[in-house]
Formats: sequence, C-alpha cells, structure tokens
Amino acid sequence: METFWRRCATCKRGIGFETPYWICSVSTCNRKGSSLVFCSMPCWDSHVPLMRHREAWAEEQRSPTREAWGADAEIRTAQPAAHARAANDPSRESADDGEARGETEIVLSTDVPREILVIASKLKKYVRARSGMNTSDSVMEILSARLRTLCDDAIVRAREDGRRTVMDRDF
Ligand SMILES: [Zn+2]
Ligand SMILES: [Zn+2]
Repeated sequence: METFWRRCATCKRGIGFETPYWICSVSTCNRKGSSLVFCSMPCWDSHVPLMRHREAWAEEQRSPTREAWGADAEIRTAQPAAHARAANDPSRESADDGEARGETEIVLSTDVPREILVIASKLKKYVRARSGMNTSDSVMEILSARLRTLCDDAIVRAREDGRRTVMDRDF
C-alpha cells in the first residue's frame, strides 16, 4: 500500500502525510488536476529555470493527514495516465499486474551525477550551421538539466508500464 501522499514533481520521491512541502507561486504550476508539489526548496529551485519562470517563489504548505486524504489517496495513486496507456497497449496482459509492479518499484535515486549530457561541439556546430550564431557554454548545463527531467518522466512511465527498459515511447 502507498505510504505517501503525492510525488515531488522534480525528484519523484513520495511526500508523506502531515509533512511540509512546497508549491510554486506561478499559476501554470498550480492548475487543478496537474498542480506541482515539491519535497524541498532545492527541488522547487530546479524547476524554475526549466519552466522559464521570470518571477516565482515557493510557498510552504503542509500535506493532509492520511485520514483527511482518505479514500482519495487510493484513487490518486492509481495514476489515470497509466490506465489510459494500458488500455491502448494490447501487449499488456493485465493493467492491474503492471500497476502493482510499477507503482511499488519507483525509487529514484538522488545520488546521481549532475554532469553535462550533451556533446558541446556537435550542438554548437548545429546552432552555427542553422543560424550562424555562437552558443554559450552555459547552454550545455541547462540542456543537461532538461534531459534529466525528460528522462525522469520517462523512467516513471516505463515503470508504470512494468518495464525495466526506458523506450522511445516513454518520451
Ligand atoms: Zn524532490
Ligand atoms: Zn513553477
């Protein structure tokens, strides 16, 4: 059974009940049904450049008690997106199987290398060929951060599907 309330939008760790968490002040991060929650200030920080917020701050909140959240918790953790994909994927024998496997296994490590993931020379060559422009070295860092976020989301999708391989369709 799930022992957390919701997942952090950045590191995907579960945020427990009656626990402090942070939300973003920007309205697009607080849309009903797809609002983002963060387990820590660093996790909130790292979404700011990715979302290209110009002016944003974090607001500390406190998650509800398990009782207050109640039966809702089970509905939410069932992840409607996984249901939709399962229904469209004939290769899956049983949606419930995959969900049980995928949902309980998601543990994203925070102890990961934060290195540059793009080949700077090739990227610069592309930008130059395309536009004649130069590319600042700091671009590699922000692109690497974006790639990590894209990969994190893909990992969650692959695991929801009960796979141990991240595939093109997870992106
Ligand atoms: Zn986090
Ligand atoms: Zn935000």
